[in-house]
Amino acid sequence: MSLITVGSVAFDAIETPFGKTDKIIGGAGTYIALSSSYFAKEQKLVSVVGDDFPSATLEDLKARGIDIEGIQIKKGEKTFFWSGKYHNDMNTRDTLVTELNVLGEFDPVIPASYQGAEFLMLGNLAPSVQKQVIERLDKRPKLIAMDTMNFWMDIAWDDLMETIKMVDVLIINDEEARQLSKEYSLAVAAKKIMAMGPRYVIIKKGEHGALLFNNDNNVFFAPALPLESVFDPTGAGDTFAGGFIGYLAKTNDITFENMKRAVITGSAMASFCVEKFGTERIENLSENDINKRIMEFVNLAQFEIEINN
Ligand code: AMP
Repeated sequence: MSLITVGSVAFDAIETPFGKTDKIIGGAGTYIALSSSYFAKEQKLVSVVGDDFPSATLEDLKARGIDIEGIQIKKGEKTFFWSGKYHNDMNTRDTLVTELNVLGEFDPVIPASYQGAEFLMLGNLAPSVQKQVIERLDKRPKLIAMDTMNFWMDIAWDDLMETIKMVDVLIINDEEARQLSKEYSLAVAAKKIMAMGPRYVIIKKGEHGALLFNNDNNVFFAPALPLESVFDPTGAGDTFAGGFIGYLAKTNDITFENMKRAVITGSAMASFCVEKFGTERIENLSENDINKRIMEFVNLAQFEIEINN
């Protein structure tokens, strides 16, 4: 099934306790598209870059089967730039620089060839832009998933509420879920968020795994692998989202049972992402690498027990 992803295609500069990069390729849209390209065969990206963005990178995305017709290249303008520095625990980071550049005036264009897609992944962007994308589709996709962040809760609450109402799955982290719901318990937070519109909520807890909730009171927990090498968590959330929606698009099954598999697939993809800086690790995975990693998740959480009454 075909999948449209909307998200930033960017330059990032990252500092972790293990090292520092100059400007490298990043962006939520890039991470999502790379990750989902291992699963969704018909994948279409909507974004905007400046003419300082390397055409070789765009060609590389294309070579992976990602349709880039929906990426606008703005002449004489600069690509979105983000820089962040991780603390020693690697769970928290400070944003050092956000230069919106072309993203400041992003007016998403949906090429005619993208129309009719069954799946839509709205990467972290201004909620008004995410909403515009939904409105510019001739037919509502079968499943719309959305990511967001604290930043938009602080500055664009009303827009965010309007957009959240229109989606099926909201993917956020624990801190964001608490801010959005004003609740500490994640179970209560998920219920409150589902009352805002989405039928499903995924709450990511970084190195502590992810929870999937639906509005029939079902809950599923996916652990995170205890990894030996964690170099750079940048993009892990987006890579998770890409694996999740890519798996759903591949299997064309949006039941809760299949969403559990999608959450494990997303978790497996995110576990690769953190092993190297930037997108490096998720650029070169084989089907075997991915299958082996998914089996590690299965084995991690599997156990037998006899209950004697
Ligand atoms: P994550 O680590 O999953 O939060 O995603 C990090 C990626 O999000 C980086 O590659 C950034 O380029 C991108 N990013 C950071 N802030 C924003 C923003 N305000 N809008 C769009 N993309 C962003």
